[in-house]
Amino acid sequence: MPRILVSNDDGIHADGLAALHEAVRPLGEVWVVAPDREQSAASHALSFARPLRLKKLEPRWYSVDGTPSDCAYLGINHLLKDSPPDLMVSGINRGANLADDVTYSGTVAAAMEASLLGIPSVAFSLVSRRDFDYRHAARFARALVRQLLEGGVPPKLLLNVNVPGDGKPKGYAVTRLGKRSYGNDVVERSDPRGARYYWIGGSTFTHQDIPGSDCNAVFRDRLISLTPLHLDLTEYARLDEVSAWPIRGYRKFAPKFAAKAG
Ligand code: MN
Repeated sequence: MPRILVSNDDGIHADGLAALHEAVRPLGEVWVVAPDREQSAASHALSFARPLRLKKLEPRWYSVDGTPSDCAYLGINHLLKDSPPDLMVSGINRGANLADDVTYSGTVAAAMEASLLGIPSVAFSLVSRRDFDYRHAARFARALVRQLLEGGVPPKLLLNVNVPGDGKPKGYAVTRLGKRSYGNDVVERSDPRGARYYWIGGSTFTHQDIPGSDCNAVFRDRLISLTPLHLDLTEYARLDEVSAWPIRGYRKFAPKFAAKAG
């Protein structure tokens, strides 16, 4: 029976976590290791400078007073150390993780951490801002995970899935990351003692019209978006340009580039 590790960034009590757990429960031996409180936008942080507490709430159901990446790390390197999971799933996030969101998202980061540790992983997010109904997203998660487990999970898989929240999706599309903005709002207020404070992260969402992008699939075509990700951030197209710069006073060495990054 395959082992499936489940985490999220909305916390152990989130409806989306329960929905994802329910979706994959018939497909294997499911372990939940999730943050004890909301960790949205925690990104890929690991808690190196303080101890972590792991709390067993039920059999195969644990909370961690840490980040989503801490959960993936502890789940894979500690709880399931003797028999690593065949797949990690993260979510279902309460809100989109499209385009540049993936660099902030704790949901995606938990999947990234699993992927770095050699466990194929899928992040699921529900693109909605109110009336969160996880049923369609959960149904797709079950179909996709079943297919992956039956068809063979590709090694190093890191897949970012976004499901439209307004009714039954028409189908799915395999996409690239798009471009999205939150409007760069900074709201300045004063606290009761007169000192200024700030709220960042606006609410005026806009996205660019990029053919084949995750944003277009979800917002324009109402399709479920599947974006394969990888963690090599090297911009290969710019290697020659940067190599051509002289930097006065320093000798440049030619590195031996491998034919292709692994
Ligand atoms: Mn979240």
